[in-house]
Amino acid sequence: MARKKQFKTITGMADIMPTDYKIWKEVEEVITAIANFYDFARISTPILEDEDLFVKGTGQSTEVIEKQMFSFRTKGKEKVVLRPEFTPSIIRAYIENGLESRQKPVKLWTLGPLFRYEKPQKGRYRQFHQFDFEIIGDAASATDALLIQLLLNILERLGLKNWRLEVNSIGCQECRPHYLKQLKKYYNERKKHLCADCKKRLEKNPLRVLDCKEEKCQRVKKTAPQIVNSLCQECYKHFHSLLEFLDAMGISYILNPYLVRGLDYYEKTVFEIMPEEENNRQGTLIGGGRYDKLIEQLGGKPTPAVGAAGGMERIIEIIKEENLHPNIQRRVFESFENPPQIFLVQLGDLAKKKILKLIEEFKKNGIKVAQNIGKDNLKSQLQLASKMKVKYSLILGQREVLEDTIIVRDMENSIQEVLPQKGIIKEIKKRIKELK
Ligand code: AMP
Repeated sequence: MARKKQFKTITGMADIMPTDYKIWKEVEEVITAIANFYDFARISTPILEDEDLFVKGTGQSTEVIEKQMFSFRTKGKEKVVLRPEFTPSIIRAYIENGLESRQKPVKLWTLGPLFRYEKPQKGRYRQFHQFDFEIIGDAASATDALLIQLLLNILERLGLKNWRLEVNSIGCQECRPHYLKQLKKYYNERKKHLCADCKKRLEKNPLRVLDCKEEKCQRVKKTAPQIVNSLCQECYKHFHSLLEFLDAMGISYILNPYLVRGLDYYEKTVFEIMPEEENNRQGTLIGGGRYDKLIEQLGGKPTPAVGAAGGMERIIEIIKEENLHPNIQRRVFESFENPPQIFLVQLGDLAKKKILKLIEEFKKNGIKVAQNIGKDNLKSQLQLASKMKVKYSLILGQREVLEDTIIVRDMENSIQEVLPQKGIIKEIKKRIKELK
């Protein structure tokens, strides 16, 4: 008698069984709560997309597009792919659904499966899941800092304490060509020490050589030119101010001058968060960066943006291995679903730094606050605050920073009081309680 065929999952793809679902649910709960606190709207895009979207968006000569796409033709002869990453899909949805006319920034998040034809190994699968955050329509470095803060908040809530944040700037279309010339020259002089792939990459996309995991290429990289030395004034200022914001928030980071990330659309800020002791790139938990030209490239209006994505499987593996316990506070999480009652207004860099810290403190106290950290103008921030119908705006300008005070503006009657910064959370907590 013929033996019955035993069906198995396709290579690199896994079932998520009920025993694991408890952790998946908790991780999703934490991500959702943090997304709600920072006022991101959730979207979901189809798993199948036009192949061209990623060829154009992610970049023709990236590893993801060259080697890892699950692409095929439909019966109707359309060339489609199982999405390999989220950003191009989200930008397509943003343009296609008319979100370009919305008040900026538009903050979107999503979570779901992605597909890359990689060599399966621990932490590297052909079907995996990411959570993804995108802030569209904001060029400020303070926004990059806010996004990093949000991501670290997720890890903290999940119980992951030992992470390492690496940051770099890869410049813009003005200054990068100059750097690429230097890089090409450097590598051309050492071409015989590179792997076969990198020899090809060097011609098509020299930045990708910095990304290569081969040991011999890693060795050559050690003395390669660094892009920070080639940044134009604008990119330098942007990067410098991001680092200042991170310092002010007490977020420790490592400057990695060779961090470039594997996707072509990045410019200025790039960053990765990985387990502290792991110096292996494959162990990266979260990666992100700024992509100020992508929206235009995909047919939208020129719009700056920044985003990041984290790998669910890798994070869940750590939670299981280290027996971590995500900090789920259902009542607080539910309150983050409501519209905020408080808007934090800031004027000037010193105030931005203070506000970034205040956001954290309000969050720790379970109070949802709104802000527009990328804006510099008082009027536009107050307009947004009234549009959001918050009860109070807390205003922090240069003077208040120096005097350790903060202005509390009752949005209904425009009455303003100057209060000490110390104790402000307690005071606001009391006032909000009285409103209920
Ligand atoms: P990327 O989109 O390549 O920047 O990846 C962002 C995050 O997704 C990584 O830091 C990983 O946590 C996760 N990730 C990427 N590729 C895979 C994969 N093949 N399998 C599992 N997780 C992945």
